[in-house]
Amino acid sequence: MLAASLGVAGTAGGQVRTAYPDRRGVALSQFPRTIKLADHVYGYEEIRQPGFTTVSLFVVGADGVLLADGQGSVAATQALVDAIGAVTPKPIRWYVVGSDHGDHTAGNSVLPTDVRYIIHPQSLAQMQRDAARPARGAGAPQVVVPPAAMTGDTETINVGGIEVRVLFLGRAHTGGDLMVQLPAQRLLFMSEAYLNRVFPAMRSAYPSEWVRVIDRALALDVDRFVPGHGFIEEPHVSREELVEFRKALQFVIAEVRALKARGLTVDDAERQANWGPYTEWFLREQQAPIAVRKVYDELEGRLK
Ligand SMILES: [Zn+2]
Repeated sequence: MLAASLGVAGTAGGQVRTAYPDRRGVALSQFPRTIKLADHVYGYEEIRQPGFTTVSLFVVGADGVLLADGQGSVAATQALVDAIGAVTPKPIRWYVVGSDHGDHTAGNSVLPTDVRYIIHPQSLAQMQRDAARPARGAGAPQVVVPPAAMTGDTETINVGGIEVRVLFLGRAHTGGDLMVQLPAQRLLFMSEAYLNRVFPAMRSAYPSEWVRVIDRALALDVDRFVPGHGFIEEPHVSREELVEFRKALQFVIAEVRALKARGLTVDDAERQANWGPYTEWFLREQQAPIAVRKVYDELEGRLK
């Protein structure tokens, strides 16, 4: 438990708690890798630049495969489809858009054309805007825009003997954040609402609402929480690390709030922020300035 309370990489159960593969002792040659989480349920970890994992989840039912989140390019999602094919000959029939960001959706053109998308209205609107943007150069991946959004905050899907619940627990990392709960397996795939030892990435986030979303996730009857980035953990570690990620979010919000209360401009706040134990987390240099701006936006009422 001590290691879990440290923001820096600690060890527990022999695993270093970090999103850095080398510090964790995992060679890059081991990726991509498929990890069996329960009967019929698999996590998939692939490395994306600048060197941390993007996680997908798939559930193999009697009627086909449900996939939650893809990878960040046509080649990477094709490799994911191939990995699913190595587990089962059944077709991918459902795809849950946990995150609408390109690092999870840019390869979706390789999915079967008749796949059924489950997507939140806010993510659908975002993907429609992304698709309407002028082409971003030759070879830019085609944005596959799902035809329709879900109509409520939950949807239950029977993939053939396995119940899957798709949940919207509130706005977090994208605003259209969907999670996949497997009640019988006591598992929750949280997509980018849970970044394991990755600095809170807030480009399109709702910082304080995100904290409440994690509270709702922690209150569910779940043993294993699966992140959208960072390593998939054993169940008890996954809960400790989700709590740790919640602390990181709160730390970032509190730090920026305190800087703003001192009257600092956003640029000065960015320079003077002290990220404490979270300085070591993956993507800190890239994401911290974005987080400062987003928390200012929230405090100044610019997040609608
Ligand atoms: Zn991502």
